[in-house]
Amino acid sequence: MKVANNIKTKDKHVHNLAKLLSGPHSILYKKAELAAYDCDGFTIQKHLPKAVVFPQNTEEVAAVVKYCSVNNLPFLARGAGTGLSGGAIPINGEVIISLTRMKRLLSVDLENRRAVVEPGFINLKLTHAVSDKDYYYAPDPSSQYCCTIGGNVAENAGGAHCLKYGVTTNHILGLEVVLPNGEVIEIGRNGIPDSPGYDLLGLLTGSEGTLGIVTKITVRILKNPESKQTVLAYFNKVEDGSQAVSDIISTGIVPAALEMMDKIAIEGVEAAAFPVGHPKDIEALLLIEVDGIRAGIEEQVNQILEVCRNRNVREVRAAKNDEERERWWANRKTGFGAMGAISHDYLVQDGVIPRSKLPEVLSKIKEISQKSGLRIANIFHAGDGNLHPLVLFDSRVPGEVEKAIEAGSACLKVCSDAGGTITGEHGVGIEKKEEMRFVFTDEEIMAQTDIRKVFNHDNLLNAGKLFPTPGKCAEVKQELKKA
Ligand SMILES: Cc1cc2nc3c(=O)[nH]c(=O)nc-3n(C[C@H](O)[C@H](O)[C@H](O)COP(=O)(O)OP(=O)(O)OC[C@H]3O[C@@H](n4cnc5c(N)ncnc54)[C@H](O)[C@@H]3O)c2cc1C
Repeated sequence: MKVANNIKTKDKHVHNLAKLLSGPHSILYKKAELAAYDCDGFTIQKHLPKAVVFPQNTEEVAAVVKYCSVNNLPFLARGAGTGLSGGAIPINGEVIISLTRMKRLLSVDLENRRAVVEPGFINLKLTHAVSDKDYYYAPDPSSQYCCTIGGNVAENAGGAHCLKYGVTTNHILGLEVVLPNGEVIEIGRNGIPDSPGYDLLGLLTGSEGTLGIVTKITVRILKNPESKQTVLAYFNKVEDGSQAVSDIISTGIVPAALEMMDKIAIEGVEAAAFPVGHPKDIEALLLIEVDGIRAGIEEQVNQILEVCRNRNVREVRAAKNDEERERWWANRKTGFGAMGAISHDYLVQDGVIPRSKLPEVLSKIKEISQKSGLRIANIFHAGDGNLHPLVLFDSRVPGEVEKAIEAGSACLKVCSDAGGTITGEHGVGIEKKEEMRFVFTDEEIMAQTDIRKVFNHDNLLNAGKLFPTPGKCAEVKQELKKA
């Protein structure tokens, strides 16, 4: 049923879009309201959208998309807006299609271990919904208490426990997608693995909202492991902590999670909402979780304790109980936000490196910090080499924003030079577009933008994200530098 929206503007598009939507307050168009949508978790750039619409179902999403397509209005999808690379920022004054009202859990099929959700369904709620049956949803970004599964699909989100269980793409079985012309397609029908034809599920997952708008998602759910145990290890030297990471993996154990924090990161988490009493004079800590059949867990924990002792650990122990384990994880998972306790602003970076290069890369990041005069904290998924250098700065100090951007980019260059890449889970968005050149040639970028054209022919959906313009941007940047 359509509900009258009391629209007070002369903009005909706002009136026409409102007519396509049911539900109260389903469109925002006033400047003050739009300001809440001028950025996402990447707060360095801000742009006002033309309007924000709140469809309630796939038909309404398709109608809005068709309207935008016919009327040449740029548009983009938005989930919870926690993205860290600017993917949901309306740089072209887009109509933002917010999926937050499409937040239902549509079905749970325990027999086939899958669930179907709408895109605005919050990640952690899925685990909550199936936990009484002893199941859970594995991908666990630290933002999982508020980010949406639609946003996770778009970014191919990872998390602490993705080392053993894989990132979002390994848990997506089917998608319903509104294409940029308003047509609705289903891919990965019924969640049957290995369907014939191109792997569109793989293509759509991680495409950062540039190929279509996801309106329904079939995900894999897993049975809870019989047992889990977490170990905390403190190291006086970063090098010893880094070597312990490689040693643990070399034993053949695949931990469910293997996380690292350095001294500045520890200072942050201890100053924020969930302190646990980590010593402030250590250079690194490791948080290692193993899970599986009860019988094997104790042996794995003992092996991990031994590895750490062989690497000069200052103190190492397993959690006494679930309550302690959960406190350690709350301390780690709120790590990014905790930087707010020790810095006015921070920029999160997201490089990936071969694990063996950890000591070398961390020392180069230290050099970048010294050169820029900005502190850089490191909180990261050490087990899979996914670094998160957090560049601390103060936007009130003239020149610090630019310095932070430069330092962040330099960290990504170090990662790519070490044989890694420029993003593990946060996406490219607008933030790392130019850094795509560290890892792709112009031809490789063009091959990918050609794919985008097939889906997003008029480039109205989330334009200007993910790829630099081959050739041109680099030249323009050089010119600007010279000027
Ligand atoms: C404190 C904090 C911790 C974080 N920790 C992690 C972490 O551990 N691992 C990790 O991977 N990320 C992490 N992130 C980043 C972020 O939470 C993820 O990228 C998440 O997947 C974004 O989901 P969202 O709903 O907020 O999407 P948004 O930010 O709203 O959108 C992100 C992108 O997805 C597109 N999009 C959104 N919904 C759809 C849809 N339905 N269809 C098509 N495109 C869509 C948007 O256009 C945009 O390009 C963290 C962020 C914060 C703030």
